[in-house]
Amino acid sequence: MDRILIIEDNKTLAKLIAKKISTELNFEVDVAYQLSEAKLFLHKYKYFIALTDLNLPDAPNGEVVDYLLSKENRVLVLSGNIDKDFREKMLQKNIIDYVTKSGVDDINYIVHTLKRLHKNQKHKVLVVDDSMVFRKQMKSMLENLFFQVITVAHGEEALGMIATHPDISLVLTDYNMPVMDGLELTKEIRKIHKKNDMGIIAVSSSHDDQITAMFLKHGANDYITKPFSKEEFSCRVNNSIEALENIHIITNHATRDFLTGLYNRTYFFKNIKEYFNDASQNGESFAIAMINIDNFKKINDTYGHDAGDKAIVTLSEIIRSSVNQKDVVARFGGKEFCVVLKDISAQNALVALERLRANIERNIMTSSNGEEIRFTISIGVSTSHEDTLEEDVNQADLLLYNAKQNGRNQVAHN
Ligand code: GH3
Ligand code: MG
Repeated sequence: MDRILIIEDNKTLAKLIAKKISTELNFEVDVAYQLSEAKLFLHKYKYFIALTDLNLPDAPNGEVVDYLLSKENRVLVLSGNIDKDFREKMLQKNIIDYVTKSGVDDINYIVHTLKRLHKNQKHKVLVVDDSMVFRKQMKSMLENLFFQVITVAHGEEALGMIATHPDISLVLTDYNMPVMDGLELTKEIRKIHKKNDMGIIAVSSSHDDQITAMFLKHGANDYITKPFSKEEFSCRVNNSIEALENIHIITNHATRDFLTGLYNRTYFFKNIKEYFNDASQNGESFAIAMINIDNFKKINDTYGHDAGDKAIVTLSEIIRSSVNQKDVVARFGGKEFCVVLKDISAQNALVALERLRANIERNIMTSSNGEEIRFTISIGVSTSHEDTLEEDVNQADLLLYNAKQNGRNQVAHN
């Protein structure tokens, strides 16, 4: 677990912040009341972030900041001093942020910032700028915010990088660049990556309103004018990343089943319709299977609802690992799953599903109380297809019903 060091001589405040961080976030927290104590902690542990006051009994003038930075710590300054010049002087140092401590809101802001910075670690940011000075400056600021940073010198290089790293979350692009400018780059990126899956922020010294508007119209998520303050830069970058994360969460809710992470029924029909029509037209052989846990009520009644849930998750994992990457697996609800096996002969589909049935029969699941639980599944599979996807799924469902009628734990096909 990552650690946070709080250096603050006001013990009540230090304890309050420590408590808030350790209850709301997954961090170990150490508290030092003066610089000498902080040095002992820093000797012993590596910290994710040091959160420090500037006025300490044994270091009254912010000496702690230079000390922390000299030991390569990421620093968040916590100060009662709201003097503008002093604040600016501090922000010129390589600190992450300068937070005043005037009330509860500030503590909430700290917690939110720590959470944000921790999540930033998994995001890749691409910086595109022909000026080496700006590239370096932005890289250093972004790394200070815990992002993984890649830098390139022009638009074409950026497109190459995006092709090999499609998981880049955010692109920061300059406007004026040789070969391909930032606006052209934005248009090119938007042909492949939509606004909701890769953010773009234009960073330019152009004060031309039309350029700003052009960027936004062509799919940039935001615009930053050079020169910019470190605080504005951090806020805009963090906001864009947060918006992407939120959209991702909402999309996931709409398309995935919460318990298993598989597609839900609605998304299944939306996703597979095009494949069904194309495959039917091209004569590609495929299979649609409905899978259902046998006597599931008994698992719930005998071992409890949690064991029932575990059986559903276990089955989802075994199905997912038994089929190919390109096959589509969905949970339709309750104990009912649907699988589309793509580009497979009827015979091979039956072999694969029979193997799945046998794997489940052999599998022994352990409940949280340590009881060993076995269960079986019935499968209905359609390989000679109906005209529409809906009719085909119904067909598989009827076959599943036959499998249940004939004694369960079997595969029924047409
Ligand atoms: P069979 O299909 O072999 O006849 O089995 P069954 O009689 O057990 O099936 P039935 O449809 O009667 O019961 C299914 C039960 O599954 C009813 C419902 O309470 C339970 N169930 C539905 N969704 C969930 C879930 O997400 N978790 C758990 N634990 N139970 C669920
Ligand atoms: Mg039943």
